[in-house]
Formats: sequence, C-alpha cells, structure tokens
Amino acid sequence: MEKVCPVCNGLAALTARCPRCGRPLTDGGAIENYYGPYSPYMDIESLQMGEPDTHCVHLLCCSGCGHDSRAALALIPV
Ligand SMILES: [Zn+2]
Ligand SMILES: [Zn+2]
Repeated sequence: MEKVCPVCNGLAALTARCPRCGRPLTDGGAIENYYGPYSPYMDIESLQMGEPDTHCVHLLCCSGCGHDSRAALALIPV
C-alpha cells in the first residue's frame, strides 16, 4: 500500500497558527522542494525531523511576522 502526504495531495489542509502573532501559517510545501546547496531552509535539524518514510516535512511561513517553522506530517495510506 502506498503512503502519501495528505497535504501535498490536497486531501487535508494545514491549519497551524503562528506562535508569535496567531495568524494562520502559509504552507510553503514539502521541504524537500527547497533542498539545494544554497537553500536557507535546509539544516540538520529539519533533516532529522520525522522519518522520511513516514513523514513529509513541510515549511510553514507566517505572512504577518515572517516567522517560519517546520511541521512533520504523517503519511497516510491510499
Ligand atoms: Zn507533504
Ligand atoms: Zn506571525
């Protein structure tokens, strides 16, 4: 059975809120899309967050204050 990220596949919406200002966080997509030698988003911490086989790590940004965080989303079977 294949497992997919519900948010990447449009099956669920992210509803996290900014811990600083309380605005809804914008889903920046799977963090692997940001992977690159010059990416400012990639660091050891994010790589260690969640197992790649069971989680999809997303980058969340706040349009209000610029805060960014990461969320490891559990993959669901389809
Ligand atoms: Zn995803
Ligand atoms: Zn904010």
